[in-house]
Amino acid sequence: MAWNVFKFCTALRGLGSVMIFIVLGVVGVTYYALVVVNYGPSLFHGDLDSLIALAVLLLFHSLLVMLLWSYFSVLSTDPGGVPLNWKPMVDEEKGDVDPLLGSEHTGVGLGVDQENMVANPASEAVRFCRKCNLFKPPRCHHCSVCGRCILKMDHHCVWVVNCVGAKNYKYFLLFLFYTFLETTLVTLSLLPHFIAFFSDREIPGTPGTIAATFLTFVLNLAFALSVLGFLIMHISLVAANTTTIEAFEKKRTSTWRYDIGRKKNFEQVFGKDKRFWLIPAYSEEDIRQMPELQGLEYPSRPNLDAL
Ligand SMILES: [Zn+2]
Ligand SMILES: [Zn+2]
Repeated sequence: MAWNVFKFCTALRGLGSVMIFIVLGVVGVTYYALVVVNYGPSLFHGDLDSLIALAVLLLFHSLLVMLLWSYFSVLSTDPGGVPLNWKPMVDEEKGDVDPLLGSEHTGVGLGVDQENMVANPASEAVRFCRKCNLFKPPRCHHCSVCGRCILKMDHHCVWVVNCVGAKNYKYFLLFLFYTFLETTLVTLSLLPHFIAFFSDREIPGTPGTIAATFLTFVLNLAFALSVLGFLIMHISLVAANTTTIEAFEKKRTSTWRYDIGRKKNFEQVFGKDKRFWLIPAYSEEDIRQMPELQGLEYPSRPNLDAL
């Protein structure tokens, strides 16, 4: 695997919105090299060149719209915070009552070590965040960059200047997906121009346009390979209904309670309505009927508690 640009996420922490300009800068250079310098002028060459240029430009612009739509959706969508006064559910069927819920405890001055989990009758541990002073819903984690608890937190990434959690994970995956398709298209489209650098033929263009084409090819190749690795990792995470954080937690358990089958695991992220799978949005019906999209409740394997 080539150089993984996403490994720099942690190192770049704190750069904040500067990252938006870096992403838009890469998009700008790519647009200049592919559309303005190379394939735009080819439209007027006639014959096969024009047809190929038309196909490349149509595909490039369509993918660019989807990429930017997904990117700004991840960026502007709240990943999901813990609602004020949220408290863990009591398992009434089992007739057990969480002793913490019967009193006025709000977490401040809990008799237990607040760093530790408290055993819950429903086998799910009741967790408490001392920094936020709130109970943590299942699959929720505290993000030290955001300074708050995030529902079904996956990771905090500076590339999208946001936390990736329950409500924007799908948009993040679509951003990865469209970035992979777009950078692969650009890499393949500029490959003949890149090969030409190493031939004896004279390359048309000014030193500026030649440098832009060279830089665009290298940048897009690096992104395509890095995003491919990331995409493969997230496909396996979605298939097993696991977040990046949970992938580490999961190693400690033999069975994963949230893994309820590939199809249902996929629907928990992408929704049930197929028309919305490839766009960064959910149908109103899915939002109404799927509580897991709100990030507070998740179905778990029915007989796992009894094991
Ligand atoms: Zn917290
Ligand atoms: Zn965060």
